[in-house]
Parts: sequence; C-alpha cells; structure tokens
Amino acid sequence: MLNKLSDTIYYLSNQDDIERPTLGLVCGDQYSLIIDAGNSTQHAKDFLTEIEKLNVPPVKYVVITHGHWDHFLGMNEFDAAVIVNSRTNEIIKEWQNYSFDDSSLHKYVHTNQLGDIFMKIIQTDMPNRNSFQLKSPDIIFENSLTIDLGNKVCVIESIKSTHTDDSTVIYIPDEKVIFLGDSVYGKTTNSLFHYKQSLLLPMIKDIQKYDAEMFLLGHESICDLNEMDIYWEELTTASQVVKSTSLENAKASFKAENNRDPNDNELFFIKAFVNDHIIQSQ
Ligand SMILES: [Zn+2]
Repeated sequence: MLNKLSDTIYYLSNQDDIERPTLGLVCGDQYSLIIDAGNSTQHAKDFLTEIEKLNVPPVKYVVITHGHWDHFLGMNEFDAAVIVNSRTNEIIKEWQNYSFDDSSLHKYVHTNQLGDIFMKIIQTDMPNRNSFQLKSPDIIFENSLTIDLGNKVCVIESIKSTHTDDSTVIYIPDEKVIFLGDSVYGKTTNSLFHYKQSLLLPMIKDIQKYDAEMFLLGHESICDLNEMDIYWEELTTASQVVKSTSLENAKASFKAENNRDPNDNELFFIKAFVNDHIIQSQ
C-alpha cells in the first residue's frame, strides 16, 4: 500500500530485507512524476499496481536519484521519460552492457562485481531476463531541471553527497518535501563502510538550502525536520573528533569535548569517519 504524505505526494516504503528502496509519486493537475524505478521489474510492477488504485494523472516522468542498481533496474516497466543527471547516465550506459542470464550473474558474483543478495533478488524478481536490456534514459541534465506537472513544480538537482558523486534530489517547494535518495548515507569501499569526511559539510549545506520539512530517504522512508537535524548533529559531532585512523583517539577526543560517551549512532559514524582515514591512507 502507498503511504499518503499529502494530497499530491505518496511513497512506497523501503523493504530492507529484499533491498527495495523507497519509491515516490508526485502528482500535478496534468501529470505525475515517479522518484526511483525500483530494484527489479517486480518492484516496479508492484508500485504501478498501487498507483493504478489511485485516481491520479498519467505518469510522465521517472527520476533516478543515483546509479545504484536497486534504484534503476525497474525502469523499463514505466511508459514515461526517464530523467537522470549526466553522471548517472554514464553508469547506466555501463549497465547496458551487462547480461542477466544465470551464468552471467554467477560470473559477476564470483568476480565480486555484484553481491550475492543482488543475484538472489534478480533471479526472483526479474523473470524473462535472458535477453533483458536496460533502456536508455530520455532526459539528461547537468545540474538542475525544473518540471511543472500542472500546479506542482518539482525541482530536480544534483548535490554533493557522501554516498555517490552522482546524487540527485527532488524538491517540491509548495509541499516543503524533498526526496534525498541515498545521498545522506556513507558508502562501502573495499568492504569498509565510510563517510567521506571532506564532503560532509558541503553536503549538509547543499541540503539545508532547501526549505523542506519532510525528508524522504532511500532506505529509511521518512524523517521530519527535527529528526534530520539530529542526524546532522550526530554526524558533525562524530566527524569533528576523528583526525586519524585511530578509533581510540577519536573516542577519547569525543569524551573530552562532550563530557560523555558517544551514543550508538555517533559511535557508528565515528567508525565510518575513521574508516575514511584508513581508506585515504591506503
Ligand atoms: Zn545507493
């Protein structure tokens, strides 16, 4: 079932156990726009089935928030213009060379190009994939694109992000709602989960310039302004105490500066910033 955020904005909640991110629907008087295409044909179909139950204008656009497979592999299912920024477009071009038959999937897992969970989900939720070919996006933008769905403006912009260098957000000004995709998360490099320290403050600045009250996240569904502020606060407090590859030094520095031990979130972030130093030093 879709969650109703307002008269014109809906979302399908993320399902972490099967790597399904949050999908969004914004409706104007004339057209509707979808945020992220789902992790498979089945995910896209499930979303379209829910949309059909609503009496909303036809879906004309699908915006992909970034080039991770769980956000775009369902895109062939939509009879709509797919919008991506130029960096995401390059990633999708690479995926157009991939084959999805069982032996190719096994090969990708064997060579660590893709995870085991990826293969299982694709095998379950992408039937008829032996000749599957990902289609090309239709609208490529560089930094910013504004679309009017009929009394409903969507601002689509690239932002700096600790997750990928191709992150797109979708802001709906009259609703004060923003879809952030995965942009506020860290990333995994050589099996280490890390937050790119140098990008943290530029990213927060990029996101805080939008006058938003509701934030939709790829794998969290929804946060209000207060929850988002706490998230920024915990991240920045953690970042400030990490100056090297030493977790012990960072924890001691946290305690000295804040007169308490870090909470679970802060400790998780401290480890991720320490990992960032480890990756830099390699
Ligand atoms: Zn992602």
